Amino acid sequence: MGKSINICGLCRNNESVDSHLIPKASYRTVAAKSISNNPVLTTGDKSVKTSIQVRSHFLCKTCEDRLNDNGENHVLKYTYEKYGNFKLQEILKKLSPEFKSDNALVYSGNKIPNIKIDHFVHFAVGIFWKSSAGKWYFLREPLKNNQLGNKYEEQLGKFLMGDSLFPENMVLTMSVSNEKDPFPIVIFPEHEKRDGFFQHRFYIPGIEFILWVGKLIPKNIKNISISHTSGGAFFFEHLDNSPLIKYYKKHLKTMQKD
Ligand SMILES: [Zn+2]
Repeated sequence: MGKSINICGLCRNNESVDSHLIPKASYRTVAAKSISNNPVLTTGDKSVKTSIQVRSHFLCKTCEDRLNDNGENHVLKYTYEKYGNFKLQEILKKLSPEFKSDNALVYSGNKIPNIKIDHFVHFAVGIFWKSSAGKWYFLREPLKNNQLGNKYEEQLGKFLMGDSLFPENMVLTMSVSNEKDPFPIVIFPEHEKRDGFFQHRFYIPGIEFILWVGKLIPKNIKNISISHTSGGAFFFEHLDNSPLIKYYKKHLKTMQKD
């Protein structure tokens, strides 16, 4: 009595425990880099150079394990860890791309040894869903949530539980940095309205994920996605050219001047 119990936001069955929005390991990379005065965690117009983690009592132990076992553990083995240590990049450099698209090389995920595309999908969906469905705080202020809207939130929740296939009207794409020293920050999910659809994005050191949502997503995107392309398509490119990274590089520079 008196003590309120938070029910897990995913299975809605068990009591929730302390959960992270972005995996701890990504913060370790960021904290280890701690280059010059660069702030390293950023969301909207708030950025800090700190190892503060965005956490909340949101998921139960079973669902935390579900996210770890179906995606997070696998994906984190391949992300950028420190200078000279970026496993996925090393592997891609040794393989031949399927084709070139603008400035990116596109690889077929199922031809990459040991890579489990479905784990990359589950991982990214987990972050997008958690960010939207949960209540998270950064520097004591609540982060915006419900960006996906209730309908899509619910669909992604079912997907994470293994109760349904990847939702219709959504496509997930992924880009890997080909830079020697990828931008060492974490960018929390944010979204932008495009012509007839939404783009939700987040970035962990070396990899950017984009979730395209809406009925008017360009048709060709499905053919170069990790959610719908058979085998999964990985983009390998200069992520400094990504609008998200460009924006934050500029933003962080302005902040340093202040
Ligand atoms: Zn649960």
